[in-house]
Amino acid sequence: MHNSEDKLHRFIFENTDIRGNYVKLSHTIKKATEHQALPQNLHTTLGELMVASSLLASTLKLDGSLTLQIQTNGPLKLLIAECNGNLGMRGTVKWNGPIESVAPIDLIKEGHFIITLIQKNAKTPYQGIVPMEGNSISELLENYMLRSEQIQTKLWIHSKNDIFHGLLIQKLPFNSSVEELNHDEMKSVWERIIESANQSFHSVHSELEASENLQNVFYSETIRLYDPTSLSFACSCSKKSVENMLRLIGKEECKSIIEEQTSITIHCDFCNECYQYLEDEVDFVFSESNNSTKH
Ligand SMILES: [Zn+2]
Repeated sequence: MHNSEDKLHRFIFENTDIRGNYVKLSHTIKKATEHQALPQNLHTTLGELMVASSLLASTLKLDGSLTLQIQTNGPLKLLIAECNGNLGMRGTVKWNGPIESVAPIDLIKEGHFIITLIQKNAKTPYQGIVPMEGNSISELLENYMLRSEQIQTKLWIHSKNDIFHGLLIQKLPFNSSVEELNHDEMKSVWERIIESANQSFHSVHSELEASENLQNVFYSETIRLYDPTSLSFACSCSKKSVENMLRLIGKEECKSIIEEQTSITIHCDFCNECYQYLEDEVDFVFSESNNSTKH
């Protein structure tokens, strides 16, 4: 199974209110990017953003999607990473001009970084702006989490040979089950855990099991590891979503495209799918839409 190696592991540090997520991603990112012909720096940046989206998504009860999006006025136009509640992921990059020699942080630092949370039962999506304060995607998101959610969160992401490793450590705001440790003790445990990750997370091995990697990084802690969850590439595009898009474009505009080009072709940048509509199919879309709006 080509996606079987991509796993997310949730864990807690025993007797603390500190939890973590560790993810290893390779096939999912490969599948998401194989049709995009990305230069290495863009591949790395998109990979990091996808890792970050999976780490953040898995801290939430997500029945929808979490999207991280960066837009800049520089050569990098748009960078999107999305993760849904089943840890299905997709991502895309749009850029213009020579970009290969730009360092990843320089690609994004003048940009607008937006986090969007869509929950199926919420009327409107939640959107937050991630301030461009930091020298990596991890630092930017750490600052955002602290400011907007008041949750102490630390992220580490690194990649080697296109295998990405991500770690998120979060101090929960309260936990009634943890009363043995006082505030100062908890603070020093938190600092020790952060220090361990700073020291050793970059040296986790792709060949080792998650439990071994985590025990190596946090050798003085007791970790309770939960069953892992698989991650895979997933695109949410569909004939139905494309037809909704055609309805937004409007009948007149669709007709004039058909007159010029004999068909309408809509390409999904995330999965490379092409949706093509000939005149009679466009007519059908609009007749169906008329029917549905009458009822
Ligand atoms: Zn698609």
